[in-house]
Amino acid sequence: MMKYPKDLASLIAYLKKLPGVGQKTAERFAFTLLDWEEQSLIQMATSLESLKARIPNCSECGCLMDEMTCKFCSSESRDISCMCVIASPRDVYAIEQTGNFNGIYHVLGTLLSPLDGKTSDNLEVPKLKERIEKLQVREMVLALDSTIEGDATSLFLKEELKNFDVAVSRLAFGLPVGSALDFVDEGTLAQAFAGRQVVQ
Ligand SMILES: [Zn+2]
Repeated sequence: MMKYPKDLASLIAYLKKLPGVGQKTAERFAFTLLDWEEQSLIQMATSLESLKARIPNCSECGCLMDEMTCKFCSSESRDISCMCVIASPRDVYAIEQTGNFNGIYHVLGTLLSPLDGKTSDNLEVPKLKERIEKLQVREMVLALDSTIEGDATSLFLKEELKNFDVAVSRLAFGLPVGSALDFVDEGTLAQAFAGRQVVQ
């Protein structure tokens, strides 16, 4: 088989790193990019180059910032006494879509997963406690995956926060067991919010 030029092969290899992109799709993408105007390629390259610098995480809540502002922490219309705890900044978008939540967020960054080396240290609980006190949070919704890791993390947090005057609930109703938040459809997630249950 005729080999692709080295730089094209390299581009294909990068594209294949994306989820759901196999060899054939990567080849199609690569040839499409080759057909693009030079200007579009430069714009895309510039966007990629500064992607991380332009979309940092809010140092308060961990959500992605938009034009260097956290629209959750800086909003005056959100209820800071109600905090939704999520594993990843991307979970915010699924929850916002439901329109059922108007509190603030707290991104853990990970779930407890000892096999992957993710222990309670990775959850940065002191920072969470500090925010609860500073913002006088009264209600906390744990919007974590319905998986073993999500369950373990919920129970751990509930235990850690038992001396705080915070009602801790967890999304439960309608969330299929073993499901990650980003794979749950909007309706199911909205239902899970409405039917959140106190963590026992
Ligand atoms: Zn924030």
